[in-house]
Amino acid sequence: MTSKTILILGGGVGGIVAANSLRRRLPSGHRVVVVERNAVHSFAPSFLWLMTGDRKPEQCRRPLKSLLREGVELITASANALDLPGRKVATDAGEIAFDYLVIALGAELAPQSIPGLAESSETFFTADGAVRLRQKLESFRGGRIAFVVASMPYKCPAAPHEGAMLAADYFQRRGIRHKVEIHLFTPESQPMPVAGPQLGQAVRQLLQSKGIEFHPLHSLISVDTAAGTLVFSQSAAGPFDLIIAIPPHHAPQLLRQTSLVNAAGWVPANPRTLETSAERVYGIGDVTALPIPGRWKTDTPLLLPKAGVFAHAQAEVAAARIAAEIEGGTPEETFGGDGYCMLEAGGGIAGFAAGNFYAEPTPDVRMQPAGKSWHMGKVLLERWWLASPGWKRESYAVLLRACGKMRGIRAAV
Ligand SMILES: Cc1cc2nc3c(=O)[nH]c(=O)nc-3n(C[C@H](O)[C@H](O)[C@H](O)COP(=O)(O)OP(=O)(O)OC[C@H]3O[C@@H](n4cnc5c(N)ncnc54)[C@H](O)[C@@H]3O)c2cc1C
Repeated sequence: MTSKTILILGGGVGGIVAANSLRRRLPSGHRVVVVERNAVHSFAPSFLWLMTGDRKPEQCRRPLKSLLREGVELITASANALDLPGRKVATDAGEIAFDYLVIALGAELAPQSIPGLAESSETFFTADGAVRLRQKLESFRGGRIAFVVASMPYKCPAAPHEGAMLAADYFQRRGIRHKVEIHLFTPESQPMPVAGPQLGQAVRQLLQSKGIEFHPLHSLISVDTAAGTLVFSQSAAGPFDLIIAIPPHHAPQLLRQTSLVNAAGWVPANPRTLETSAERVYGIGDVTALPIPGRWKTDTPLLLPKAGVFAHAQAEVAAARIAAEIEGGTPEETFGGDGYCMLEAGGGIAGFAAGNFYAEPTPDVRMQPAGKSWHMGKVLLERWWLASPGWKRESYAVLLRACGKMRGIRAAV
């Protein structure tokens, strides 16, 4: 057996799953190496609960090493340059040669790319940001709050709506909801547009039931920091006492100089096999731009949304295909486009959207009525994700699978 090195760039959702899946599938003679700049992994869906004070930071993070199977080599370093012809990556910890490469570098947040935004807004899109925002919410006595999606694309299409509803719930619990106006601005035409008009309408109704004013088709140009106003392409809104941003997302700088990326810097890959334009190089998760076949009355190609549930499933596919090839078999596993999302609505309830994003002629994604069980499902998912490989994690997986209705979750765990 010739030993192969499979190098995984990025140890977030996709990188962790790819590494563990490869380690499970391949004999120990092959190396599975993860390069990740952060030694600690944080579970992003919990940032919403950090914002509302329902979690402490230490409850949402684990040492990355503890989430990886024995035999996965973790290199805590920044990857700085990718040499595709030479099949090696330069990192802070030296050069690493690879036979197979899985790119799972995610998306970078770039609030500074919109004038005034970084100085005048808070965010729950990072753990530190969510902790700061929690303090802001705690000292908030009343006034106008704007949630704003600064630009497209962004990860987790549900998150801005969840953020606004959880903030509404937080003020309700404090008894000052009547003193707080909450607005949500987005450049999109409806909530979660890729999932279709019916789902968008269901989310709009949820927002409305929480007294949140939803403003679609608002493209942010800048923020007037002195006045506290949001300047959109065709209008302005404000003043606001607190601006909570979903900051612009950029593709990782490291990939910009390579032939792997499209004009926007994202990595196009085969939507089913996750193969990129380079041989034995796979792209998974937020870093990719994956066209989907379905479309909603538009000629613009739709792209698969950026979400952990997809990064997870794609990582399994890439790992299975690489392992099959190394073992001399024919890679058969493909990514089918299934996805799901528990949409936190506050008050201990959540909605559940699930379906197939590759369905034709349009994605087939449906929303279940909001209820307590979906919220419990999200809590279980968090516990399962943050448990180390072993019996505890398996126990959470059994519980999650037992949530029979949660199609998609059952496939993932
Ligand atoms: C508030 C919030 C709530 C969310 N809720 C949900 C949800 O409910 N459901 C859902 O499906 N998704 C959710 N998401 C989205 C989900 O977290 C992402 O889609 C998912 O993490 C993508 O996985 P990934 O592996 O592609 O990228 P990431 O998990 O972001 O991992 C990328 C990794 O690469 C590392 N990296 C980047 N550049 C370098 C470099 N040069 N060198 C070394 N390491 C590098 C980063 O440090 C990072 O750890 C949420 C996101 C947020 C912000």
